[in-house]
Amino acid sequence: MQNLPEIDNLIKLISKLPGLGPKSAKRIILKMINNRQELLKPLANNLGDVFKNIERCKICGTLKSSSNPCNNCEDKKKKYSKICVVENISDQWAIESSSIFQGYYHILGGTISDSVKGNNRENLLINSLIERVKNDNIDEVILATSATVEGQTTAFYIQDNLKITNVKVSKLAQGLPVGGEIESSDDGTLISAFKNRRDL
Ligand SMILES: [Zn+2]
Repeated sequence: MQNLPEIDNLIKLISKLPGLGPKSAKRIILKMINNRQELLKPLANNLGDVFKNIERCKICGTLKSSSNPCNNCEDKKKKYSKICVVENISDQWAIESSSIFQGYYHILGGTISDSVKGNNRENLLINSLIERVKNDNIDEVILATSATVEGQTTAFYIQDNLKITNVKVSKLAQGLPVGGEIESSDDGTLISAFKNRRDL
């Protein structure tokens, strides 16, 4: 290929996305360039909009529009008594679609061992979780982190941090396969993992 730094940079960036390597990045970029009006232009605009208008809620960690209140936090009116702690928003979507859980969510945005993010306690919104437990009359925090070493280490860390609140902390049952991620678990597995959760 000719020396086109714009393309080279794009290949490097897109290769960092989950499930993509340099080969598929090149294919994606060529497809976009060959469809300038239908793909490249709207994608560039949409990405700019997302960068400008979408942010992480500083209270529950979900994604929200910067001009509107957070949907998760607005659910306060429902007066739930449980918070389910997940690593990523895609885990929340998986649990919601199984309909097993009625309550609030807390999205960590990763695990304690995500070294790329630096200051973990702040990024995982631990202080906010403690505040939510204290202020929202929460009687149970369900740790629904992945059955991976990172997920379990994170669960232990949160359990430890929640001790000062005296709230009941439970963890999903090991119905989840070892190494299993919440977002890729089927409804049946999730439902049994919630039903058989154990107190910590
Ligand atoms: Zn929120």
